[in-house]
Amino acid sequence: MAHVLIVEDEPAIAESLAFALRRDGFSAEIADCLAAAHEKLAGVDLVLLDLMLPDGSGFDLIHQTRRSGAHPAIIVLSSRDDEADRVAALETGADDYVTKPFSPREMVARVRAVLRRAQPGPSTPPPAGEASAGAMPVTVDEATRRATIEGKALDLTRVEFDLLACLVAEPGRVFTRAQLIDRVWGDGFAITDRTVDSHVKGLRKKVVEAGGDPNLVETVRGVGYRIAVGGSDAGAGHT
Ligand code: CA
Repeated sequence: MAHVLIVEDEPAIAESLAFALRRDGFSAEIADCLAAAHEKLAGVDLVLLDLMLPDGSGFDLIHQTRRSGAHPAIIVLSSRDDEADRVAALETGADDYVTKPFSPREMVARVRAVLRRAQPGPSTPPPAGEASAGAMPVTVDEATRRATIEGKALDLTRVEFDLLACLVAEPGRVFTRAQLIDRVWGDGFAITDRTVDSHVKGLRKKVVEAGGDPNLVETVRGVGYRIAVGGSDAGAGHT
């Protein structure tokens, strides 16, 4: 049974989420501020995180959680549909972002989907161990959910890992954003192109930080993304 921590200071929202989650078989606990959240983080599989809390910002919790090496899935709840917040949340490592108001039922569906992504289950296509992108020094191991570049481990969020794994599985192939959404998030997700772009941006940043090529994940203008193959010049298609 997955354990969800709801970090939310508006009791009505927190209670309705907890009720919906418990009804669906999750165990759910509520923290109404950052301090309470810290005390309840141990053993949590997923955090529903409000950004505006009485004793600080939800971003602080994301940072501290990631720094401590804990990796619960995180879905950010925000009261404003603020592009900057959304991008920041995804870049700091949140798995999803939801704007209030939302229905508890919708949230439960998202919790389920995020947790499904978190644990490579039987629905994940079985990869033959390790995939490498041709001449590119990238490795993606779906069994252990570890990725490396130039032999250095990449500390990726779940979405970033899934994006990379999808692209690396077919080096050189251009994936449209819609295809990436379909493969990484699956059905029933209202994911925008911009969300994909935000995650790709985060992925690139980490590749560069690990000493990799910023053009590894290549933007194909007007189409989507692909993993660059065979070194510098990808040569604009073969004739
Ligand atoms: Ca709040």
